[in-house]
Amino acid sequence: MKHQIGAALAILAALAILAGLGVAGVSAQQSTNTIDSHLSAAKAAAGFDFSGTLARICIAPQTAPGADVRPPPPPDRATWFTEPAKVFDNLYFVGTKIHSSWALTTSEGIILIDTLYDYASEEAIVGGLKKLGLDPAAVKYVVITHAHGDHVGGAKLMQDRFGARIVMGAPDWDSIEKSVNQYPNGKPKRDIAAADGQKVTLGDASVTLALTPGHTPGTVSIFFQVKDDGRPLTVAYSGGTAFNFVNDVPHFDTYIASQRKMAELAASQNATVLMSNHSEFDNAVTKIKMLAARKAGEPHPFELGREAVQRYFKVMDECAQVARLRLL
Ligand SMILES: [Zn+2]
Repeated sequence: MKHQIGAALAILAALAILAGLGVAGVSAQQSTNTIDSHLSAAKAAAGFDFSGTLARICIAPQTAPGADVRPPPPPDRATWFTEPAKVFDNLYFVGTKIHSSWALTTSEGIILIDTLYDYASEEAIVGGLKKLGLDPAAVKYVVITHAHGDHVGGAKLMQDRFGARIVMGAPDWDSIEKSVNQYPNGKPKRDIAAADGQKVTLGDASVTLALTPGHTPGTVSIFFQVKDDGRPLTVAYSGGTAFNFVNDVPHFDTYIASQRKMAELAASQNATVLMSNHSEFDNAVTKIKMLAARKAGEPHPFELGREAVQRYFKVMDECAQVARLRLL
């Protein structure tokens, strides 16, 4: 009996020690996995370069998808129009103050990346290409990063008028087909479904697609090479950012995994230029103004370096962890 009590006490003592260790373990883990710790990590990663992305997804994030409603009437032209610009030897900006559309020129024509809202596509893309001395009919491929109205709006125009092939994630083609109200002026016809690692090649250039679901199920990000006065640089182009999707743990896990995949791909491909499809995220319009004032020997404003490109995906990763923890 005495022996049994002794054994029981020993077990209790061992349990107490284990419990103590357990508490210590949890508190150590909490210090690196709290909303505050992820917010601090996001702020540190954003630094001076990515405050717009930080504001949009860490400070004041959207928390639900938009409804399938008819788009509002177009805003005043002065709110969106900006001049097109040559940004690299082989890359031209034909976007708006808010959204980006890029023309990558090749030996056999143009690959267009994203197409703005439909109301802006005629003047900014078709008009912009012409202003820059490029032929809109030379656009052979259009890569759409995701099927929200601010990026897919001009796809139908490019398809109908110029016969361009449209590349998009399969789930986002599905969402266009399902939409009842968002395409009052018609939908682009289903065309190429993007595959992970697929190269869209035209003449002497290609863009490599990376499936990065999260912002939408079919979000596509892109890697491609540009030249700055003959010097080749690799661009990592992030295809979707905001949290206007169903906010639950599985969606955030998918989103986070995609950002880690992008960080790895960007590192392995030595990407030193970071682009996204909103100027709010990559400061495209501001950088284009800086470029116009660039003097000989100064760095290209879009060339941030490897480390900064990594920090961009860190901001997205950490902000998604903040939002995910807020759900628990
Ligand atoms: Zn979107």
